[in-house]
Amino acid sequence: MLKGKVAVVTGSTSGIGLGVARALAAKGADIMLNGFGDPAEIEKIKAGIASEFGVKTAYSGADLSKPAETKGLIESATAALGKVDILVNNAGIQVVSPVQDFPDDKWELVLAINLSAAFYAIKAVVPQMKERNWGRIINIASVHGLVASINKAAYVSAKHGLVGLTKVVALENAETGITCNAICPGWVLTPLVQKQIDAWAERESISNEEAGRRLLTEKQPSKQFVTPDQLGELAVFMCSDAASQLRGAAINMDGGWYAQ
Ligand code: NAD
Repeated sequence: MLKGKVAVVTGSTSGIGLGVARALAAKGADIMLNGFGDPAEIEKIKAGIASEFGVKTAYSGADLSKPAETKGLIESATAALGKVDILVNNAGIQVVSPVQDFPDDKWELVLAINLSAAFYAIKAVVPQMKERNWGRIINIASVHGLVASINKAAYVSAKHGLVGLTKVVALENAETGITCNAICPGWVLTPLVQKQIDAWAERESISNEEAGRRLLTEKQPSKQFVTPDQLGELAVFMCSDAASQLRGAAINMDGGWYAQ
């Protein structure tokens, strides 16, 4: 279904991004990976996706907190794989603190990676998508793009901003073959969430298992984690012809969190 398409998935060395990259590769898309991590581990992921799915893969270690490197990521994907048809803005970080104590530099960093990087990547990629009159832009926001939680001022602001950006880009391209949508996951058990579970366990002097259960019980009615594979399948749908009139949507896959 995606044979001949090229996808850039930011922050795809781990977690949700890796799940989305694998799902797109499984449908035949060539993949530009991005993100941090152990070089040997990243090489294994890159070679593994290429051989498992018979697609081309490339990797860029661009630091998306820096606008020039974000632009460079789109340029190197185009140089390495010929073009960019699908852009998945997934890279993100979390910092947890009450607003009055929130470190200024962390506010700037969360906004830079979780929101501004998507803007710079979209800005860099839209001209070539317009030339071919086809494109899929998928922003991995969060249920925190739709509702708030305490102690997440920067994250919630960035994700609400990302949902807004999604709508603007969708509207600006509404008469073209370029769609832009957001995916809003609830809790997914990735390193980003494991850190929050570990902090909870330490704060309450409980086991990590119990902290994980409480984290789910507090917000997610299904009491089950969403998986990167499930989110990958939603991204695949967004890339399909069936989704050509899905424009400016923010779809929550969150075990019922947002329905409350
Ligand atoms: P993760 O920590 O497993 O992965 C984050 C990825 O982003 C990694 O590949 C990391 O190397 C990369 N990254 C971080 N900073 C970067 C930078 N400056 N430049 C380039 N890459 C960078 O986290 P995850 O849980 O898979 O999160 C992925 C996205 O999903 C994030 O945007 C996050 O906000 C969102 N999200 C996660 C959850 C969840 O429960 N895990 C829920 C909703 C939304």
